[in-house]
Order: sequence, then C-alpha cells, then structure tokens
Amino acid sequence: MADTAKNSKRCTDTMDFLWEVSSTLASVNDAKLLTDALKSIFEKYFSVNNFQVYIKDENTFTLRDFVKSWIIIEKNLQHELVENIFNTLKSVNNNGFILNNKILKYSSKKLNEQFDALLTDSKNLIYFPVLNENNLAGVIEINFDSISESIKNIDFLLSLRIAVSQISTVIVNKILNRQLLRHIKFQKVMKSIAKLIETQFDLDYILPIIGELIDRFVSEHLIYIFTRNDEGKFELFWPLDCQDSGIMKLLPKLKDDKASVISKDGKTGLFAIRNEEKTIGVIAASSNIDKLSQTDIDYLSKLSVQASVTTQRANSYAQVLKYATLDALTGLNNRRQFETRLKQETANAKRNKKSLCCIMLDIDYFKHVNDTWGHSAGDCVLKNVAKIIIGELREYDIASRYGGEEFCILLPDTKIKEAVFVAQRLRKAVEKADINISEDQVLGVDTLNVTISVGVSEYDDDCDVPEKLHQTADIALYEAKRRGRNRVVVYDEALE
Ligand code: GH3
Ligand code: MG
Ligand code: MG
Repeated sequence: MADTAKNSKRCTDTMDFLWEVSSTLASVNDAKLLTDALKSIFEKYFSVNNFQVYIKDENTFTLRDFVKSWIIIEKNLQHELVENIFNTLKSVNNNGFILNNKILKYSSKKLNEQFDALLTDSKNLIYFPVLNENNLAGVIEINFDSISESIKNIDFLLSLRIAVSQISTVIVNKILNRQLLRHIKFQKVMKSIAKLIETQFDLDYILPIIGELIDRFVSEHLIYIFTRNDEGKFELFWPLDCQDSGIMKLLPKLKDDKASVISKDGKTGLFAIRNEEKTIGVIAASSNIDKLSQTDIDYLSKLSVQASVTTQRANSYAQVLKYATLDALTGLNNRRQFETRLKQETANAKRNKKSLCCIMLDIDYFKHVNDTWGHSAGDCVLKNVAKIIIGELREYDIASRYGGEEFCILLPDTKIKEAVFVAQRLRKAVEKADINISEDQVLGVDTLNVTISVGVSEYDDDCDVPEKLHQTADIALYEAKRRGRNRVVVYDEALE
C-alpha cells in the first residue's frame, strides 16, 4: 500500500515535472530566461544544482555563440572537458549510457528507445546529447546533488529522457532559426552591396559602405578594408586606424592567385577584392578571441566576391562616365563638356557679377605636322600641347579640346587684361617647348616645335547667349591667323 502511494506520488510528480517543462518551453522565448526557468524546475523536482546547455558551433566546439544568444556559460569552462564528452557521446551506442567510462546497458523495455546519455561519477553530472537529425548539435548538462539513488529509478530516468528530448527539440529549432535568420541577413547584405552600384560609381564612397555592411554582419570580428597602391602594397582604406599586427603579418601572404588567407590561429582572415585577375583590395576580418567559423569564412568569401563585382562595375561605369565628358587623347574636357561648362560659367558670371574670359587657340600649320611626320606624331603634339596648357592654368580654369587641334579655355573670375596675359604665357610656353615625338618612333627626329594662334574675349553682361563668348574668341583667333599666326588677338581689337 505504501509502495502504491509512493509510486502514485512519483507518477504525479513526473507528470507535473513534464507539464512544467513543456509549458515553460512553449511560453519562454528568451534563452537566458528559459535556462533559468528550466533550472528551477529541475531544482524543484530533483536535487539538481546546475542545468546547462552547450551548443556546438560548427565543427569546432565553441560555446561563445551560445553565451550570447542562449545560455550563460562561464568563460573559464574547460573546453577540452566538454570536447571529450562530445567525443564520448559520439561513440556511445544507443540504449546505453556511460558510468565510470563503462557503457551501462539498460535492459528495461521503457528505455529501449535511444537513450544516449553520459554519466560521469566525478561530479554527479549527466550529459544528454542535443541531436539535430542525427548530428550532435549540443549537450545538456545536468548536475545532481546525489545521483546514485535517483539513477536506479526508472521513472526518474524516463521523465528526464522525455524532458530532455523536448528541450532538445526546442534548442534545435532555435539553432535552425538562428541559422536561417543569419542566412536571410547574409542575403540582405549581398543585395545591399550589389545595389550600391545603382547610386554610386565612386569607390571612395562604395568601399566604406561595404566595410560597414560586412562589419555589422560579422559581429564577432572587426572588419577592415585595404586597397592596393601603385607599388602593389596594401594600404588601409577603411576605417581610419588598424593596430592589428596579425592582419599586417598576413597581408603579404595574399598573392594574386589567392582568394583568401586564414591565419594559423584561425582568428584572422583576408578575403581578396579582385578586378579581373588582379587583387585590388582586401576585406580583413579579425578578432583577438574568436576563431572564424567555416560558415563565417564561406560568408566572407561570398561577400568579397560580391564586393569585387560591385567595384569592377563601379570602375567601368566611372570609365564610361569619364569618356563621356573627357577627350580620350588629351584627357581635357571634350566639346560636349565644354558646352555644359560654358553655360554654367556664363550663368555664374551673370548671377554673381563676376568677370569671365574665354581663350580659343589653334595650332599653326598642324596639317603640315601630320603630313610630314605622320598622324601619330601629330597626336603626340596634341597631347603635349594639352599638357602645356594644363601646366599654365590655375586649378579652376576649364580647358577643353574643342575639335582637331583647337582648344578652348574658360577663365572664371578673370578680367580681359589677365586673360591676355595668360594667353601670351601659353603662346610663349608652346613656342619654346621642344615637343618630344620620339616615342612615336619618327625616323630621324626626336622633337618638334610648333606655335599657336590665340583669340581672347570677355563675357559681357549683355550677352544673350553663352555661345557668344566662344564665338567672339573664335573671331579673335581667326584674326590672329590672318595677321600671321603665333600671336594673341583680343576680340575688341579684332574688330578694329
Ligand atoms: P592653321 O595654321 O590655319 O591652323 O593650319 P592648320 O594646318 O593647323 O589647319 P587645318 O585646319 O588646315 O588642319 C588641321 C589638321 O589637324 C587637319 C586634321 O587632319 C588634323 N587633325 C584633326 N584632328 C586630329 C587628331 O586628332 N590627330 C591628328 N594627328 N591630327 C588631327
Ligand atoms: Mg591649325
Ligand atoms: Mg584648326
């Protein structure tokens, strides 16, 4: 009778215990709160003084992830101990558990299902595996005050087994959920990096954004972006400072044929940003504490490929944009850009009541250069004259190649006297320059001398159309040619 009462009490207890476990699992979402709640349930029904869950992070057994997202583990917990438990668990047969390193077979029918657990006698600890399908995803550790009595009790073991399998299911769901959420986040980062190109082509703008996006995604590691200078050396591009000697040591190991390099301790990784076959930059991930997991490495590799695609596109867009406004031979503004700037500068002069001058210049007898030394020598002369022009101007003067061997210069905030002075300076500089054409392998000659004729005009407030400024300079230029070339003529004088 006493036994029946005892058994019935035990049975109610077991039911209550399981009910409490399952209702807690269903209602508590937060990892820490859930662990605490489970711990107090275990304390209430069994003399448990600790309840802990360890989650295996990828292939390496790190507890760090779980600390953050689920359950608190003391930092000093010996990893090897838990690692050993893992290995032992893997080798344990179904239907048994280990006591003093011996597998105890349970003959009870009730325990014929998979009842893998590891019991250590040292601290009265039982470890239960958390299984994700057939893979070990973690361990639940229960520390009993006294295990010897309870272990003999089948009900105790069975209820523990059921509770633990419920807990495992919830944990596995959380793990999968976390992986899924991370993957969704990764897809978002990939998309954001790809979309950068829709608004910007400038790498100075794009690279820091890529850095920030990846930094937020790989939260345990600091992210740096390096670019390669002309000598092939990596220079920190983002953020402003990097004191990480690990990265600095690793950088020379990232050769052109490598997509990534991981340091020996696994805490630092470099992922190449490549433009065609060349490594043009690096995304570096580094931590003092955490190793890069295989998933992190996979994610970072994919992100660096996306960053490469984006930077490559940005480069080609920038190129297209450049050639839409610049003249390919001389690098000066092209005619279209000149017309845009002429409109802007005349409007500016009018609004701010500033002076504005225009210089038109044309190489004298240029046809003769082409005819005598060849077209490529002519090109060489054009490039060199453009260089001389740039060298003689202020930064905010606007030089353009207007057509064949005609150049046009806008001089904002400049009065006609100064403009004439500039024009004369240009004319003299061209006249005295020995223009090197040897790179074009013209037989027998290394240098040529050419002259220019120059027309100058000033913007007049009454100017109804911007083109008038350019037309008046052109008239002056024509007059300079007519008067014998290699000279400067001002529009007003040209009319005389
Ligand atoms: P002028 O003193 O009256 O200016 O005589 P010119 O020979 O300089 O003038 P003309 O307009 O008769 O000849 C200009 C030549 O410039 C004709 C053309 O083939 C050449 N030209 C135009 N564009 C280029 C170019 O991009 N490269 C080269 N090499 N020649 C060009
Ligand atoms: Mg000419
Ligand atoms: Mg001409």
